[in-house]
Amino acid sequence: MKDILLVLSVTALAFLYSCGQEEKQQQYPYTPEYLEYTTETTLPMTSVVPETTALNPETPINLMTTSVGSGLASDTSTSDTSSSSLSEQSVTTVAVQTEVIKGVSADNYNAEDMAKYFKENNAPHFGEYVIRTTKDDSNLGKDDSYTSKVSFRVESVKYNKNDPYDGSVEVYRTLEDADEQYKYYRNMYRNKPVYSEYLFKKDRMLIRMKFDVDASDEEIYENLMTEFFEKLHSVICPKCGEIIPDDSIYCKFCGTRQ
Ligand SMILES: [Zn+2]
Repeated sequence: MKDILLVLSVTALAFLYSCGQEEKQQQYPYTPEYLEYTTETTLPMTSVVPETTALNPETPINLMTTSVGSGLASDTSTSDTSSSSLSEQSVTTVAVQTEVIKGVSADNYNAEDMAKYFKENNAPHFGEYVIRTTKDDSNLGKDDSYTSKVSFRVESVKYNKNDPYDGSVEVYRTLEDADEQYKYYRNMYRNKPVYSEYLFKKDRMLIRMKFDVDASDEEIYENLMTEFFEKLHSVICPKCGEIIPDDSIYCKFCGTRQ
């Protein structure tokens, strides 16, 4: 019985190893197998755009470019470059949706997007939240103040009807405005320690939370905030659907070039 098990497990290992090898080959971006796959799935050659356009962050859909050695692609019907030499490079494009978080981009996010992200990702004890308007918040949109704000309840903190919310998310128009406000809060905590609270900043966003929130919970909120911004600065791989950070050239799951 033991012998049979041994034989079976050796066979299984050999099989897994061979699968791994195949996968490795497919992952390498310039193998012929890979090119066949990409040329099948790329858009017609008429949609060729220069790489600079593809990398422009203001382009609403990110056009992914893949450099294809024309000699290798010459046996596919979509290629019209079969007569050109191997050294010439043709560029094919793949349209990719950049919205890793639906409807939210690095340019258009607001405080409620962060609140929704906390809720959807089970931030600890995250309770109800209110979106501030100019009716209940005179600072909103004023001068260099925040342009959107959400106040939220953290259920682990004892409810105080005079001060019912335990955290807030503020989004500013510019990085400078957010920096200025960050310094202002820091100064205030130094001068009036009784007002001290957790304060963290990323991009144009500030989050404040009462010290009554558990430190371990606060850390999770901070990590979710970091994750939120990582996602805003990522794109979706056109081939496998995984997330590619915008500072990576290749998808780490399938090798597709960004
Ligand atoms: Zn991929």
